[in-house]
Amino acid sequence: MNPNYGKDKDDFHMVGGRCRYCAKNAPAVVDYKDINTLQKFMSPQGKLFDRKRLGNCAKHQRAIARAVKRARFLALLRYSGKQ
Ligand SMILES: [Zn+2]
Repeated sequence: MNPNYGKDKDDFHMVGGRCRYCAKNAPAVVDYKDINTLQKFMSPQGKLFDRKRLGNCAKHQRAIARAVKRARFLALLRYSGKQ
């Protein structure tokens, strides 16, 4: 690993428009039924990653959080722990 990793704030900040839902050809809405995509935003323990790590914009991070909560309520995703 690069020994200077973490010393530059760009390591933790998103560079350019990295939000996958703002990109061209992106789906218009965050689908709570799309479990495979939602799982990419979560740790193996079932926790949602923060916005900086995912590179999403605030609007879409909120939409993702809503979709994950919706999917959990419908038992499509776990609340915690390994599956
Ligand atoms: Zn976005």
